[in-house]
Amino acid sequence: MEYIADFHIHSRHAMACSPNITIEGIDEAAKEKGVKVIGTGDFTHPLWVDELKMKLEDAEPGLYKVKGSKTGTRFVLSSEVSNIFDAGGKNRRVHNCILVPSLDDVDAIIDEVKTRGALESDGRPALSMSCSELVEKVIGVNRDAIIFPAHSWTPWFGVLGSFSGFDSIEEAYGDQAKYIYCAETGLSADPAMFWRLSKLDKYLPISNSDAHSLPKIGREATVFEFSEDGLSYAAILNAIKNKKLKKNIEFYPDEGKYHYDGHRNCQISLSPKEAQKYNGRCPKCGRPLTIGVEHRVDQLADRPEGHLPKAAIPTVHAVPLLEIIAQVKTSVVTSTAVKRAYNDMLARLGTEFDILLNIDPAQIAEMDADVAKGIENVRTERVKLIPGYDGVFGVVDVMNKASPDDKKPKRKQASMSDFD
Ligand SMILES: [Zn+2]
Ligand SMILES: [Zn+2]
Repeated sequence: MEYIADFHIHSRHAMACSPNITIEGIDEAAKEKGVKVIGTGDFTHPLWVDELKMKLEDAEPGLYKVKGSKTGTRFVLSSEVSNIFDAGGKNRRVHNCILVPSLDDVDAIIDEVKTRGALESDGRPALSMSCSELVEKVIGVNRDAIIFPAHSWTPWFGVLGSFSGFDSIEEAYGDQAKYIYCAETGLSADPAMFWRLSKLDKYLPISNSDAHSLPKIGREATVFEFSEDGLSYAAILNAIKNKKLKKNIEFYPDEGKYHYDGHRNCQISLSPKEAQKYNGRCPKCGRPLTIGVEHRVDQLADRPEGHLPKAAIPTVHAVPLLEIIAQVKTSVVTSTAVKRAYNDMLARLGTEFDILLNIDPAQIAEMDADVAKGIENVRTERVKLIPGYDGVFGVVDVMNKASPDDKKPKRKQASMSDFD
């Protein structure tokens, strides 16, 4: 038996997040998706933490549930902070996620960090504090805290990012790196990209949605095996420490906003090789390109593309069901018809992850043959990819319709504040 977890999401109190993200909303959305254990997000925010204390009650050890809820969803206390500090003659900006097993730990962590940033101003607060100091303080509160770099590769705010990151986890966390057991892949990278760096072998790649709205919950997620002792925070910690995952559910990394190099305003998107031809400068405006994740991995890798470690955990590339339906209907995910088709499918067939990963396509085809075909294409990796770049999401063409030269995503561009 296995279960799906998504530890990194945000509340309505974080910048660029939907006002609809309530605890009850997360509880329901996780159930619809098939996510069993979901992060609360934003536990450093005073209003959100008050709400957590009011609305959650103890479930299994170290996990919580919404009082009176029948969804079966379990919450783990989680938060993301933005560490801003100088190191090695550079200004560094690194996002870190923290998981803890109790609300007392949350209060103690807030006490430790509240003088270093305006906790009430953003659910993902900026803290003037180095990564190693953060780990020291959090581990000081509870040795069982799980701390991991968020979206490890993104140019801004990724621990290994090209702009304000480091060349290794050890460089970023110093002697506190011993308390880092895992690292989040982020939407623009997948575990295979981690495997190209031998120095990352000791850090388990994990996958989370970093959702800024309810429909995005579970767009990336990590699949765990139920331990013999059942569900608990300790079982999650053990699985992570011992690298005992079932699989990573991942975006195609090409779909992430920082996969290729490029310039959003110049509509220039380049593969790492093409970017090198232009000496890392934009062929349109001449300014330095935003170096994407693929290029950054190339810079740091000591293994060839396709390297498969012995203990490799399987990766499943998935595309959200709303997106598949929207593509099939040549519509957008926000359209009423697409949402109706999505809701009908969930009502008839089960959770979104069941539909995307497990249910027989013939059964899905009884409702919509094109959607079934799209899902099958995603499962068998027969899709066309148009890589994202410089904040513009890439496109996974599930019906294989895009022309191979088409580099300009048809989707609307993301807002500048939405860096994750
Ligand atoms: Zn972040
Ligand atoms: Zn440019």
